[in-house]
Amino acid sequence: MPKIPITGLTLKELEGVLAAWGEPAYRAKQIADWVYRKPVQGFAEMTNLSLALRERLAGEFLFQSLAPVKEVTSRGRNSTKVLFRLEDGRTIESVLMFYEKRRTVCVSSQVGCAFGCPLCTTGACGFERNLTAAEIIDQVLFFSRRLRAAENAVTNVVFMGMGEPLVNFDAVWRAIESLVSPDLLGLGARRITISTSGIVPGIKRLAQEKLQVNLAVSLHAPNNALRDKLVPPNRMYPIEKLIPACQQYYEATHRRITFEYVLIKDVNDSPQHAIELGNLLRGINCYVNLIPVNPSDYSDFRAPPRARVEAFSELLARHHVANTVRLRRGLDIEAGCGQLRARSAEGHRPAGEKPRSRPKKPRASNPSDAARKRGESSSAPGSRGHEKRHRRGDGWG
Ligand code: SAH
Ligand code: SF4
Repeated sequence: MPKIPITGLTLKELEGVLAAWGEPAYRAKQIADWVYRKPVQGFAEMTNLSLALRERLAGEFLFQSLAPVKEVTSRGRNSTKVLFRLEDGRTIESVLMFYEKRRTVCVSSQVGCAFGCPLCTTGACGFERNLTAAEIIDQVLFFSRRLRAAENAVTNVVFMGMGEPLVNFDAVWRAIESLVSPDLLGLGARRITISTSGIVPGIKRLAQEKLQVNLAVSLHAPNNALRDKLVPPNRMYPIEKLIPACQQYYEATHRRITFEYVLIKDVNDSPQHAIELGNLLRGINCYVNLIPVNPSDYSDFRAPPRARVEAFSELLARHHVANTVRLRRGLDIEAGCGQLRARSAEGHRPAGEKPRSRPKKPRASNPSDAARKRGESSSAPGSRGHEKRHRRGDGWG
């Protein structure tokens, strides 16, 4: 029988296993402490357990469901991206971002994504499978253990890596329950953010859940004609369904929604788009993050010039829509989720499997080369999410 990941079990389930082995119930808490809170790398290091129990655990469970295969740290050392290999040979990536007071892990929820948004590298690579709760938890624990070894801790988790979390709701939710459980990692629910391309049934389900996690909706366009192209799930869940679902979410949770709006030169960045967006969101208790697009090998999209981004932000503010421009973080580490995996020599699927879709254009060997060719500096705007925030009026820093 293949071993199952220990993080796939809740504390109750682990207690059940240990009871069947004739162990006292408190052993489960001891094991959970080692797994979720201590910087150990395996069962062998769980020194308050008998050798026989440690060996039995190692014989039946996987300590980790993923292994790092490649790691890159940004030049400013404010983000680290890791490519992980899963037990079935597929690969995913996660990022640890350092801020002044936060250490945020950006996790993947699926291997690839079925939605194919043209701005997104993950979408261009197609969908392979959902991640399990254990594979989601283990991304966080990988960085958590490393931080704990340096007497630090993960403070926030964002579901902004590969995949659409709301179509893998059960596993995502089970992972979140373990991450927030005071018996396990003990992270605050309010420190967790789910980003969605606008899956209306998922938003409605989230509104009914007791845990108060944050919701970010990837809007990227103020009307259906444009959003149908930029965010294809819009064809299933158009704006006239999405916005009322967001309002319902706010009414049920009283948690302010964040709308993500990736700015793309000559596509969705005009003053007319800003006005249309302002009118669409007027009266909704929300916050807009304006993110100049992170150039991808799979599209010709470019970030607008700085002045155009600023003008967009100001126009929105004039429509009473609170917004910030997020600055690029970690362009030199292929900061757009999916990029490291897409470029890695490790590939991103088990040997023998064919890719589901093809790159739209040939790729430059290195993202910073591509940026240099366009005359951008590594601090120019254009990251996907792994960024520094600048509140409207703060300038570009
Ligand atoms: N599937 C979910 C979560 C993962 S994508 C979603 O779409 O929200 C997380 C965010 O990264 C989304 O807002 C997505 O639109 C954005 N994104 C993808 N590619 C990007 C790029 N090249 N530049 C900037 N943002 C990007
Ligand atoms: Fe999937 Fe989100 Fe990428 Fe769209 S932006 S392809 S929904 S991961």
